[in-house]
Amino acid sequence: MRLRIKDLSFSYDSIKAIDNVSMEINEGEVLGIIGPNGAGKSTLLKCINSILKPRVGTVLVDGEDILKLRKDEVAKRVAMVPQNSLTSFPFTVLDVVLMGRIPHLGKLGRESERDLKIAEEAMRTTFVLSLADRSVDELSGGEFRRVIIAMALAQEPSILLLDEPTLHLDISHQLGIMELIRRLTAEKKLATILVSHDLNLAAKFCDKLILLNSGKIYSAGSVEEVLNRENIKQVYGVEAQVIRSNGLVYVIPIKPI
Ligand code: ADP
Ligand code: MG
Repeated sequence: MRLRIKDLSFSYDSIKAIDNVSMEINEGEVLGIIGPNGAGKSTLLKCINSILKPRVGTVLVDGEDILKLRKDEVAKRVAMVPQNSLTSFPFTVLDVVLMGRIPHLGKLGRESERDLKIAEEAMRTTFVLSLADRSVDELSGGEFRRVIIAMALAQEPSILLLDEPTLHLDISHQLGIMELIRRLTAEKKLATILVSHDLNLAAKFCDKLILLNSGKIYSAGSVEEVLNRENIKQVYGVEAQVIRSNGLVYVIPIKPI
């Protein structure tokens, strides 16, 4: 088991954002986290990435409790593609991807040939190598998203976290990013968690789903188990049609209840 989360809880002052969450993911698996706004999805990713420090619970990566590790040690194991990775600085694509090597650099903080090679390989697999010298503030949304995924890969993580990776992308780029995530998860033997508001994309590309509501796991399991009319009604407050066809599940929202 690559990632095992046990009894995790986290509060922002008075708001209990994550309430006793447990889950397990194997290498090569993509887990989708779905749920309404404010359910705690982003908070959960930040806890797994140790940006937030939960006082209760454990996050085990290959059996090791990463909540007890220093930040740079966490960053060698867990990489995050955040929801709003914006930059207004005119860094080049290569600069940004090399930032993924920071946790691996020695005391002098200088990149070696090896770091450059790893950054290049990350750009190649995400199809941004030809953009290496371009400034990131000139890229399209889809290109920029791939650059941030390349930076995450340059960390050489075993866990990849993505917060709404297809947000604001057209349908072609949505499919492109999801296919990229699936391929990288298999090739690099990652355990991947992605947050998505797009239930149909999540259904198509995830091995299993967790439906989060008010910081708690409302439902967890296969796509077929989690995406049903009753769960969607209870958690989103929406009457939906759920179509099952050729092993795929499609959700069509009809009206609020
Ligand atoms: P989601 O990503 O599912 O939309 P979040 O994890 O962002 O949900 O938020 C979960 C809950 O925690 C919400 O009630 C939100 O208002 C609260 N919250 C999120 N970030 C903070 C913060 N920095 N300070 C205080 N409360 C926060
Ligand atoms: Mg969020």
